[in-house]
Amino acid sequence: MIIAVDGPTASGKGTIAKQLAARYGLKRLDTGALYRAVGLAVLDAGGDPANEAAAVAAAEALDLERIDETRIRSSAAGVAASQVAAIPAVRTVLRRAQRAFAADPTGAVLDGRDIGTVICPDATVKLFVTASLAERTRRRLAELQARGETIGFAELERQISERDARDMNRQDSPLRQAEGAHLLDTTSLSIEAAAEAAFALVDAALSSSKT
Ligand code: C5P
Repeated sequence: MIIAVDGPTASGKGTIAKQLAARYGLKRLDTGALYRAVGLAVLDAGGDPANEAAAVAAAEALDLERIDETRIRSSAAGVAASQVAAIPAVRTVLRRAQRAFAADPTGAVLDGRDIGTVICPDATVKLFVTASLAERTRRRLAELQARGETIGFAELERQISERDARDMNRQDSPLRQAEGAHLLDTTSLSIEAAAEAAFALVDAALSSSKT
């Protein structure tokens, strides 16, 4: 069983993917972490994340087991991630790692931007998780403040909407709701309510695929 969870930044897709993995006993891959790790590696080397050669070299050197889960969550790593993600050659390298993960016979939950459209177009169930820009900014602001980063609401909202635009308008694998994906708007839902809504969508999709 493959569950594909796509959506924009801070929509709640990561939390939902984690809870789906626990409920259905599946492994989970946060594919955004791969792009963040590549963007961060380029920054750490003093390079420009928009430079194709530097970004591809970092993607090829990426070791999934050695991603620094704390440092990749900075806002700088997020911006760098969306820059390297716009380079088709980087996507080609990371696509291989994602498909290898999804090929596990026990199945998997993958969350990102192009899971239902490109990485696993034949996924058993596809969800498209979204929330309003203001709500997503509030959530990300709380996360960044908890990390000790200081950034204003307006500046963060601008960064997020710029990142959304880059993700939705790029040529290769743009962010969009896949055909057959169930829409889940988490704007006014608590974490628990969003997870329950996702479980209900997946359960309904599984029972209708059996009939
Ligand atoms: O989900 P997260 O905010 O961690 O993703 C960081 C960036 O990585 C996104 O803004 C997007 O540009 C890129 N990404 C992508 N395709 C994916 C996952 C993430 O292009 N499957």
